[in-house]
Amino acid sequence: MSRLVLVSNRVADLSKASQAGGMAVAIADTLRTRGGLWLGWNGKIGDRNDELRTEPDFTKFGNATVATLPLSAREHAEYYVGYSNNVLWPVFHARLDIAQFEAGYYQRYLDVNRRFAEALRPLLRPDDTIWVHDYHMIPLGMELRKLGVTNPIGFFLHIPVPPAQTFLAIPEHRELARGLASYDLIGLQTKVDVGNLIDYLQDGVFGRILQDGRIRAFDRELSIAAFPVGIDVDSFIDSRPKRATAKPLPAIRLLGVDRLDYTKGLPQKFRAFSRFLEKYPDYRSKVILSQIAPPTRETVTAYADIRHELEMLSGSINGKFGELDWVPIQYIHRSTPRKMLVDVYRNSRVGFVTPLRDGMNLVAKEYVAAQNPDDPGVLILSRFAGAAEQMKEALIVNPYDVEDMADAIKAALDMGQTERRERHEALLAGIRQDDTFVWCRSFLEALDNVRRRAFLAVPTSPSEAARRALQEIELARVSPRVRAN
Ligand code: UDP
Repeated sequence: MSRLVLVSNRVADLSKASQAGGMAVAIADTLRTRGGLWLGWNGKIGDRNDELRTEPDFTKFGNATVATLPLSAREHAEYYVGYSNNVLWPVFHARLDIAQFEAGYYQRYLDVNRRFAEALRPLLRPDDTIWVHDYHMIPLGMELRKLGVTNPIGFFLHIPVPPAQTFLAIPEHRELARGLASYDLIGLQTKVDVGNLIDYLQDGVFGRILQDGRIRAFDRELSIAAFPVGIDVDSFIDSRPKRATAKPLPAIRLLGVDRLDYTKGLPQKFRAFSRFLEKYPDYRSKVILSQIAPPTRETVTAYADIRHELEMLSGSINGKFGELDWVPIQYIHRSTPRKMLVDVYRNSRVGFVTPLRDGMNLVAKEYVAAQNPDDPGVLILSRFAGAAEQMKEALIVNPYDVEDMADAIKAALDMGQTERRERHEALLAGIRQDDTFVWCRSFLEALDNVRRRAFLAVPTSPSEAARRALQEIELARVSPRVRAN
């Protein structure tokens, strides 16, 4: 099996991967078994000299090596905060209104990707499989190709792909598309994302869908498919207490766990809860909304704005409905350790997950995994979370429709045990089927197939008919979900 080389903005601490959960567990497992290298930013902000640095620091964990580089202050401001978090993040989440298309950010974004590619090049072996992660690193594959790298390179985007018209608004969309076309395989979270990217490549840069389902763009051919990210289900089930340990709650709990990000729909969620209390007064004093909202990207203005808005909203809702012995919204602006979350999930009657747009949303899956199967809670889930494509037995809501969400809260609280169990059983089966290990394995298998297909294309390959027959079999495995037309 070929060595695996990962590149992402940040690297996980492989000695603590199991605590980080989800993806880090699957990736750490894979690196341990097949051996490999993981390159990323070390989280440190240095000076201008660091912009020339292409020799990483190495840390070994068994047969896996983590290689890290610092960013200069200017790179951090323009590559990370500027282009990644103030352009790509908002646009890909369909928030053109807050994207900052300042000139200069893109150049620095490209420079950092080039520097990381230059750092990686001498570390590569001929049979390495390279897997690049997320929006910070879109041009990395292109920069590696420029340096003569011919290895299979896959790319996985953890955030959603916006509709073509939104993507086209990025001034550098063509350059980004050229970067995307340098990969052999692009993995996305959902079928909707796959459709959006194919639409964009067709409309925006004259990409063509080939007969075999692959896409041709910028004189390269690539596969695009959905590989929904999953969780390590057993870590939520096994770590649950055998008996209920938590103190009985003074009220029935609705739970939200979201980074304090404008994509998570938190003000709409608070308003929906307020509307619910207004519309169904019998529930007052009986139900609370616990919202865990850890801080994130605090240097970005849009994040400070959302924080103020939420503080005002929770204050005014608590002031309006609260009693001496009941405060309707518990708003916690701190991170909660994952271990503790399991217990909180299990002791919440409703998981209230209503992002305006989300690549996947792992909290929705974790909430389901942690429930007591005999007496499970109910998941309310936004139709705009990637997870909604798989989790159809949740109560699916429109996060922009406060009335719809208020009624969903009522339906969740009134739902009988039989229906709750049926829905939970179906949801759990789904998240088990597509867990984090399946995600990692299926992406890498697909990428290996791409490598074999490239091998078959050389002149010494079997007859054309045999090659095509083989290709068809492989394609059925590589891109089962790619749009066929
Ligand atoms: N999480 C955590 N502590 C917190 C809040 C969140 O450990 O206080 C974890 C949560 O368990 C989940 C992840 O952070 O695994 C959030 O993932 P999700 O896909 O829901 O959202 P993202 O933050 O990636 O947009």
